[in-house]
Amino acid sequence: MALYALANAEHKCENNMDHYCFQRRNGLPYTEVHHLIPLCYYDDFKNSLDVPENIVSLCSSCHNEIHYGLNADAIITKLYYERKEKLKEAGIEISLEKLLKMYESIFKTK
Ligand SMILES: [Zn+2]
Ligand SMILES: [Zn+2]
Repeated sequence: MALYALANAEHKCENNMDHYCFQRRNGLPYTEVHHLIPLCYYDDFKNSLDVPENIVSLCSSCHNEIHYGLNADAIITKLYYERKEKLKEAGIEISLEKLLKMYESIFKTK
């Protein structure tokens, strides 16, 4: 599932396609998978969150920023609007406000 999602994003950073990603040993650009709606909220949804619609491809820097950055909200908001319709198609509906609150409660203490 994760590898499929990376291929879907053409191994680019979905926060900014121009971000530099070094080459993996297999020659593909290195990006990391991130679940836009954190998997620990599994119970809040009747449909699986481990689906391509909820998986984004990020460069290492953006992936760390979305977890630990002071301005993570900006990345979350951008990805949210890009994924909103796709998530809906996968039967996953969430407001931006609720998504931001999820991140706040999981990551703010780190
Ligand atoms: Zn992540
Ligand atoms: Zn990036």
